[in-house]
Amino acid sequence: MSSSFPDVFSLHGETALITGGGTGIGLAMARAMVAAGARVVLVGRREAELAAAVSELGTGASYVVHDVTKLDAAPALIERVTRETGPISILVNNAGIHLKKPAVATTPGEFQTVLNTHIVGAHALTAAVAPGMMERRHGSILFTGSMASLFGIPLVIAYTAAKAAMVGLVKGYATEFSPHGVRVNCIAPGWIETEMSRKAMDGDPARKSQILERTPMAKFGAPEDIGWAAVYLSSPAAKFVTGTVLPVDGGVSIGF
Ligand code: NDP
Repeated sequence: MSSSFPDVFSLHGETALITGGGTGIGLAMARAMVAAGARVVLVGRREAELAAAVSELGTGASYVVHDVTKLDAAPALIERVTRETGPISILVNNAGIHLKKPAVATTPGEFQTVLNTHIVGAHALTAAVAPGMMERRHGSILFTGSMASLFGIPLVIAYTAAKAAMVGLVKGYATEFSPHGVRVNCIAPGWIETEMSRKAMDGDPARKSQILERTPMAKFGAPEDIGWAAVYLSSPAAKFVTGTVLPVDGGVSIGF
């Protein structure tokens, strides 16, 4: 055996850039990665959230204010973080926005904004970071998917299109990058208690009970459930895992 417990789950020496790392699931991934020994760099648009997160996380954390939809700025972000913090070995494409309205009321502009955030923005960062990872033959790229990556959900057409497209991205990148030592995986969270899910369910108690009824574990998940999965997928324990979509969902994707 080339590795042993608990070192096989350690992220010592790794540097993770986490988009949307200032809040919710991204912050939980940052907490778990810092606990596992990584340095983390949080990215988001709101400085106050990022600064509060970094002061909670301590010296292993820093932040850069950056909007992932500013596509041309992606290479400069990666250069800056590499210069200030060192080579990035983990990229977490987690930044996301939600849009809840009937499909026919969703304008092309709204649709495009959602795709730009989840897909085109994630691609811009991935394309900027992957060459260095491949050169060093060491990297883990994660995406935060969704149950919408796996099945249809009403009233979130642009979000569903984006999260389903993410699975294609993960598979495509995995075929190109994995031969060069860079693994690419997706976590598909079920319904997790965060600001985003609270807003999506606000004033819609029927949707909330529908979710709980079809979840075998009959509860919402916690952000840390996604955090520990992210540590696993980026650690040596997952060194033969690439191109996968890992549901962390209380069974909702297999329930009836
Ligand atoms: P949050 O709203 O807390 O997190 C979204 C994060 O993305 C925020 O930190 C936000 O920061 C950041 N963000 C949004 N747009 C941009 C942008 N253009 N550039 C940079 N950062 C951006 O919700 P969650 O933690 O729940 O969501 C995180 C991810 O998890 C999303 O991809 C979401 O789709 C996914 N997810 C969530 C589930 C849930 O039940 N909560 C279930 C399945 C998936 P800022 O606004 O400061 O830019």
